[in-house]
Amino acid sequence: MDEVEHTQRQVVIVGAGMAGAHTAVALREEGWPGAITLVGAEPHPPYDRPPLSKAVLLGAAEGSAFDIDFTALDVELLLGRRAHRLHPDERRLDTEAGPIAYDHLVIATGAEPRRLSGSHAAPRIHVLRTLDDAERLRSVLAARRRIVVVGAGWIGAEFATAAREAGCEVTVVEAADQPLAGALPAEITRHMADWYAESGARLLTGAQVSAVADGTVLLADGRRLTADEVVVGIGARPVTDWLAGSGVDLCPDGSVRADERLRTSVPEIYAVGDCASFPSARYGERLLIHHWDNALQGPRTVAAQIVSGPAGAAVHDPVPYFWSEQFGRFVQYAGHHTGADEMLWRGNPTDTAWSVCWLRAEKLVAVLAVGRPRDLAQGRKLIERGAVLDRGPAADTSVPLKTAVAERRGG
Ligand SMILES: Cc1cc2nc3c(=O)[nH]c(=O)nc-3n(C[C@H](O)[C@H](O)[C@H](O)COP(=O)(O)OP(=O)(O)OC[C@H]3O[C@@H](n4cnc5c(N)ncnc54)[C@H](O)[C@@H]3O)c2cc1C
Repeated sequence: MDEVEHTQRQVVIVGAGMAGAHTAVALREEGWPGAITLVGAEPHPPYDRPPLSKAVLLGAAEGSAFDIDFTALDVELLLGRRAHRLHPDERRLDTEAGPIAYDHLVIATGAEPRRLSGSHAAPRIHVLRTLDDAERLRSVLAARRRIVVVGAGWIGAEFATAAREAGCEVTVVEAADQPLAGALPAEITRHMADWYAESGARLLTGAQVSAVADGTVLLADGRRLTADEVVVGIGARPVTDWLAGSGVDLCPDGSVRADERLRTSVPEIYAVGDCASFPSARYGERLLIHHWDNALQGPRTVAAQIVSGPAGAAVHDPVPYFWSEQFGRFVQYAGHHTGADEMLWRGNPTDTAWSVCWLRAEKLVAVLAVGRPRDLAQGRKLIERGAVLDRGPAADTSVPLKTAVAERRGG
């Protein structure tokens, strides 16, 4: 009897991006026998976003659809269908094309780019989040337009890289004094600023955009920049407006307030990926992570829980990881640091390959690796096991990072 009831039960996943698609896969891997419906607002089969600012933008790849056979997995895909309201009391999701009943619901609606105010409908002001955005920008690159990029964050840097490769004239304007100011300290990012000039892109820091109109970007200090096209990369915010009135708790940053097993404030509703924050015991704070690896790991916790209950699911507290390909460099970061953590250089930032470690109470908590993937891989494992670093060897690039450990004290 139990088995029959389980088989008939329905999981509805809202958002058919990385986290949504991988939740469907993980549910089948965990042995979920019931129905699975994946509801996505975009018309395209679920696809991967990192290639959008790299190969897809340059025309080296047509698309980046996931290699997942949803038919073989018996997953119902409802594409081009936006959810707009959730009624937990009735276990009902309202979508543009009618209501859907659920037993368990997974919120995986991701994030959307922040925009300059008043720029929503402007045809020459772009963002880069979706396959449609990438396709539009691909023709901009192919036509070698003069481009102003607003924001020198991860997306701005990757877009500028591709645009320079395509031969466009590129100016990047950044309100902070350095690129990546929100993510990394100035001691590091001032070296990254040089990468822009090396590639032939102009970087203007401390430059606040006050208006964009008729092919001109106006800066707060009165400077005017001519631009055929403007690309805005000023961060992203969780897509959670549609949850208003549902009773699902949100945090002040707009993320769904999930617990350590990615459960929301409402029973049988989970949240995963870019739209959800979770309490990290590892780092002693709530984390909202907008990176691919987090959207891959979270689905395993959610699926295990739906199938086996909380006892069957590990807590979601990964060592965060991401990578970026910019200006001919492979930049990787694992862990999480704050301004209070001790920074340790491993190599020279004017060289092509170097790393930085962050220590908290002697333990390695984060590592940044530029062109040193081994440091990253080894550092990530050391962070996972809370290893104490031996500063001398850790700063010496001829010593493998994995051996630069004070085992006696770190375990
Ligand atoms: C251009 C680009 C490059 C990136 N490069 C890297 C990289 O190099 N390294 C890295 O670590 N990370 C990278 N990322 C980040 C990474 O891609 C994201 O962290 C990941 O895609 C998050 O997955 P997600 O499923 O949570 O959200 P998303 O991928 O945003 O998917 C959410 C989906 O939900 C849909 N949706 C939203 N609202 C609704 C609704 N109401 N109803 C139905 N569907 C809805 C959206 O249309 C979207 O398709 C990149 C992101 C972008 C945009």
